[in-house]
Amino acid sequence: MKIRISELTNYLDENVKISGWVYNIRSIGKIWFLILRDGSGYLQCVTVKNDVDDEVFKLEETLTQESSVSVFGKVRKEPRSVGGVELSVSKIIVHQLSNEYPISKKDHGTDFLMTNRHLWLRSKKQNAILKIRHQVIKATRDFYDNNGFILVDSPILTANSVEGTSTLFELDYFDRSAYLTQSGQLYGESSAMAFGNIYVFGPTFRAEKSKTRRHLTEFWMVEPEMAFCDLEQNMDWAEKHVEYVVKHCLEHCRNELETLERDIKKLESITLPFPRITYDDAVEILKNNNVDFKYGSDFGATDETMISNQYQKPVMVHRWPAESKAFYMKRDPKNLNLALGVDMIAPEGYGEIVGGGQREDNFEVLINRIKEHNLPIEHFKWYLDLRKFGSVPHSGFGLGIERTVAWISGTKHIRETIPYPRTMYRLEP
Ligand code: ATP
Ligand code: MG
Repeated sequence: MKIRISELTNYLDENVKISGWVYNIRSIGKIWFLILRDGSGYLQCVTVKNDVDDEVFKLEETLTQESSVSVFGKVRKEPRSVGGVELSVSKIIVHQLSNEYPISKKDHGTDFLMTNRHLWLRSKKQNAILKIRHQVIKATRDFYDNNGFILVDSPILTANSVEGTSTLFELDYFDRSAYLTQSGQLYGESSAMAFGNIYVFGPTFRAEKSKTRRHLTEFWMVEPEMAFCDLEQNMDWAEKHVEYVVKHCLEHCRNELETLERDIKKLESITLPFPRITYDDAVEILKNNNVDFKYGSDFGATDETMISNQYQKPVMVHRWPAESKAFYMKRDPKNLNLALGVDMIAPEGYGEIVGGGQREDNFEVLINRIKEHNLPIEHFKWYLDLRKFGSVPHSGFGLGIERTVAWISGTKHIRETIPYPRTMYRLEP
């Protein structure tokens, strides 16, 4: 079995072979150091003139950054190095001598780095962000699996829009049109009626024409949906999920968070319960801070930052003016002008990470909403069935993986939180 750098503490004083890429080389005359990376970590390999063949020692002059090599040697304890070990080199095999690597240690512009995304992924910070992404996804799955939710995959090719038609990607589908999914919610709802508690997890597509730090055209969303669940219980699930993910990352991504110089104390303060305020309360905060805000509209990025700055934790804003929300949202029985929706805004200005709410469960009301919104009723026939055959109060939400990773990793722009980002201006690599 291949031994990886991250496992080397188990091989103290043993001879091993480690394969990877040249990250850096330093020489002090009769000794040179090769910093090797293999994706699991970094290893200092020490080559001493008297310990190796001449041709191996001479490699110091020819090896280039990102050359692929296998290094043989003995594992030694070295408390000063990151993994606590180093390698005393006995032999090096070169697989390929890398051409001049375009990404050097000096600063490059983001556009250049994005064009070289296929290579940029190898760098320390990008590696750390995407390892955090991996753990955010793992923690998300664990959380729902451990709580008895069933994973249900919703289709990517759909016949209708969930989030309004302005961000739909349309494509030819034989002799008709199809759309890339904007949300699995409607399928989540029907699945919740079959399984009780479910989650949908997959890629989501929105033709976002705005050029913001928070919008991709392809992003990943986890969408739990719960039968017999009201808005308050929905918020309970959302905050538990987010707390679990943050705790998991604190436990499993220490090195990555340190590499990114994330303020870990801020993450450690993310404990239950999260503050819950109404939309009206949030508008009051904006008013008190002299923000010119039109009641009834959605919060913009700067509004969200202003609201989140009042708290150390994510804040849940609930009960929204109904006209600003989608047709499927249930109205508050105590005030029919309000929809039982909720957004969760991350702290430190990272913006909305969760959107959701309680769904309309009455057949007549829902059919009227669909008509009011001028939506093609024939596409919603199956969805309306859920209100005819054992309708129940139910709720759910969508959490955007990339925005959550951006917040946890302290990454300002969402494009670095997905391996190969898709935006209006970028379809390659
Ligand atoms: P926004 O107002 O910021 O565009 P939204 O109201 O359209 O967000 P929802 O439809 O509620 O968002 O989607 C649920 C979650 O999906 C959001 O809270 C966010 O985390 C994520 N999300 C939405 N749109 C995008 C996007 N274009 N890129 C990345 N993540 C997104
Ligand atoms: Mg949007």
